[in-house]
Amino acid sequence: MQEAKALFQKLKITSLLDLALHIPSSYNNTTLAQSIKIGEVQTFEAKVDEVSNINGRLRIGFYLLQFNRRISSMLFKVTPYHRQLYTLGSQHYIQGRVEEYRGFLQMNQAKSLKKVGEIIPKYSTEVKESSMRSLIEYYISEQNLYAEGLDSLEVATLLGLHYPQTIQQTQTYDRDVLKFVEAFNHIKKLRGKREDFPALDVLNGELIPFVKSLPFQLTKEQQKVIYEVQQDLKSKEKAAKRLIIGDVGSGKTVVILAAAVMAYPKKSILMAPTSLLAVQIYDEAVKFLPQSMSIALVKQGKTEGDYLTADFVVGTHALLYKEDLPKASLVMVDEQHRFGTKQRAILEQLMSSKEEKPHYLQFSATPIPRTQAMMESELIDVSLITTTPFEKDITTRIIGKEDFPELLEDIKEQIAQNHQVLIIYPLVEESTQIPYQSIEEGRGFWEKKFQNVYVTHGKDKNKEEVLRKFRDNGEILLATTVVEVGISLPCLTLIVIVGAERLGLATLHQLRGRVGRLGLKSWCYLFTNNKKNERLRSFTQTMSGFEIAKLDLKFRNSGDILDGTVQSGLQFRWLNLADDEQIVKVAKERVQNL
Ligand code: ADP
Ligand code: MG
Repeated sequence: MQEAKALFQKLKITSLLDLALHIPSSYNNTTLAQSIKIGEVQTFEAKVDEVSNINGRLRIGFYLLQFNRRISSMLFKVTPYHRQLYTLGSQHYIQGRVEEYRGFLQMNQAKSLKKVGEIIPKYSTEVKESSMRSLIEYYISEQNLYAEGLDSLEVATLLGLHYPQTIQQTQTYDRDVLKFVEAFNHIKKLRGKREDFPALDVLNGELIPFVKSLPFQLTKEQQKVIYEVQQDLKSKEKAAKRLIIGDVGSGKTVVILAAAVMAYPKKSILMAPTSLLAVQIYDEAVKFLPQSMSIALVKQGKTEGDYLTADFVVGTHALLYKEDLPKASLVMVDEQHRFGTKQRAILEQLMSSKEEKPHYLQFSATPIPRTQAMMESELIDVSLITTTPFEKDITTRIIGKEDFPELLEDIKEQIAQNHQVLIIYPLVEESTQIPYQSIEEGRGFWEKKFQNVYVTHGKDKNKEEVLRKFRDNGEILLATTVVEVGISLPCLTLIVIVGAERLGLATLHQLRGRVGRLGLKSWCYLFTNNKKNERLRSFTQTMSGFEIAKLDLKFRNSGDILDGTVQSGLQFRWLNLADDEQIVKVAKERVQNL
């Protein structure tokens, strides 16, 4: 296959199973009909028993030998070829759609076939039909499919689709088989991509005193993740490569601190996406880490402690620009999705020496469906924290204009208790595109009714300062979705999200996670013009980020998500990550045993 490479590139095919999964979009079935089916394309053996010219068109009467019935065919595009072909008494295999008109059978523009008894696959892809067919014929064989690791049912199903013997094979196959092959193929490819390196150091610091010194008991899941990290860090041949995913408030910081403790006396370093977050973690480190460990903070323009000698360095991306940053044996990135792949890689590279790499832990507050985590764990080990240390007590309600007076009362009540309120607008300035108020349109109202109203948004240069001021003495904060940043506003107990149906569930979940951080009874109001929205309704029913990630997948095609935050990650044709956990599990096991 000379030109195969170019064709594969065009089709984005990188494995044999990619090709096998390009199943025909339709079939040309030339097997002779066993019965007449109105509305279907059928093939018959027929004899011409009438030919007549009608206004330049040709009407052919056929006698269907097998059925002792007649069918007439009007040819609209008549060429000399047709006149020569359909002569009285001549016999043909004809094919076309069978229709009935006043009790008479019709097959307009009947085609005459040279050969019958075949089921010919039709491929509709980016490349020519004939090229596609030769690729299939060259690569998709019983032997090659078995060699990929498929079993007899899967091989038979794929062969039945590409080389059908009967039309049933193309219609009644088990879709779960294709789901499986799709999952299996994807997992196999991921596994091929994983690359491991030896670690700089074995890290096996004493952990128990630290755990005992904490003012709270670790949750089961925190314990499990810390144990997994402990196993990772003990390895010399393989540097840790782990992603720890847990909802906001699931207690990831303790895991970060525990890892730093295990790394000690070797150095560890943590990068956080904002200086506020870096400071928060630094403060917790100072509070919880053993006295023997020295801690430093690095942010733009300002550092605390001596990062050159510190055992644990916490910082923002300012770390990346410190030329004298000492090597650390453990590298961590918090809220990793807020960094580019490049920034994350730089930090790791800075710490690497030759073949050896630092142990590397990443933390994410964006839950993904369990099935997706199972797949991604082929590339990077994944730990999930699905519970929070204390149950948050948040009531989520869908409200509309008519509920506004009630909402206002609730807001006043919260502020009277020294709690804080957050109102999320879809936009900063007025727009005709969106049927909701913007911050600028709304702020006058709030500023008239309340004392300490603060405003910030994504492009606001003073964002962090405003947030800090609000935290210390604000009543109401008006913002766009910027507060998605993991800053802690512990007194927030009420959030209103204007135009909630415009946001992805993951975003709504992040926003809702802003309230009730200290376990205070809290409220989340989803303000919308469409209170019947099914997606919002299901959102009010669950607090689990992992459940919500699943819902997001389920509603992906509902089309009412405008902010584009739905996990675009994995696109499958057959597999549905929301429902097919079992299939993915089996596929993973099969890949493991290859
Ligand atoms: P995350 O980073 O996952 O969003 P944090 O690590 O900031 O969450 O934890 C949220 C809060 O929960 C913090 O105040 C932390 O001290 C507290 N916390 C963490 N683990 C526990 C636990 N096991 N029991 C009680 N409180 C905990
Ligand atoms: Mg955190």
